[in-house]
Amino acid sequence: MKLTIGHLYPDLLNLYGDRGNIQCFRKRLEWRKIEAEVIPFLSDDKIDFTKLDIVLLGGGSDREQELVCKYLIEIKQDFKDYVENNGVVLAVCGGYQLLGKYYKTDKKVIEGLDILDIYTEWEPERLIRNIILNSPLFETPITGFENHGGRTYIGSHTPLGKVFFGLGNTGKSGYEGVVYKNVIATYLHGPLLPKNPEICDYLLERALKRKYGKDISLEKLPDKLEHKANEYIVSRYSDKKYVLKETIKRYT
Ligand code: GLN
Repeated sequence: MKLTIGHLYPDLLNLYGDRGNIQCFRKRLEWRKIEAEVIPFLSDDKIDFTKLDIVLLGGGSDREQELVCKYLIEIKQDFKDYVENNGVVLAVCGGYQLLGKYYKTDKKVIEGLDILDIYTEWEPERLIRNIILNSPLFETPITGFENHGGRTYIGSHTPLGKVFFGLGNTGKSGYEGVVYKNVIATYLHGPLLPKNPEICDYLLERALKRKYGKDISLEKLPDKLEHKANEYIVSRYSDKKYVLKETIKRYT
């Protein structure tokens, strides 16, 4: 068996180690003796989505998101078809915002891919925190790091998780990310997958089932160190609650 992973625009979208997510996909496949091919697509490259099993769209600064926007317009329909056809996608932060209708910064409106019915608007106070989520999809709490000026309004979409510590989609809604078909879109950098191997295996298994049929399942790995790290970070924040300064002001 083999999975082909498309890393979209690593020349523009690669903040805070998003590339580590690719390493994690690759390594966890290798440990199960499944072949992995990674294809980085730079901003000018042609992308054939029919050849891909997993797509990673990483984070970027407002400036880089503005630059990438013109390339996204060209792949909009193909990317949408891939998602509707159950293609697996991990979109992080700037990449998450770009899956939506638009991202309105303090300077302009950046058009998104319109794959998710969500939109993002910038506010001056950046949301920068370690973050912990509880998600009905995963047994272990999800941990990561968020750093965004944009607030993402997800309408009737299903969130990835409920914020246990940190800020999430808007800093106020109490929810983080979106899950849609085989897409996980989230503000969590970190990188996300080495910290949360359960999410990595969830995406890998969906990609394998899509390609090779429903009976395929991944053998479990011990992940002892990963569980220890997770328990430590969750215990560090279990007696704390973080709220926006602005929200605190309203209550005092
Ligand atoms: N530029 C976007 C924001 O600030 C996304 C940042 C990111 O990808 N970390 O909201």
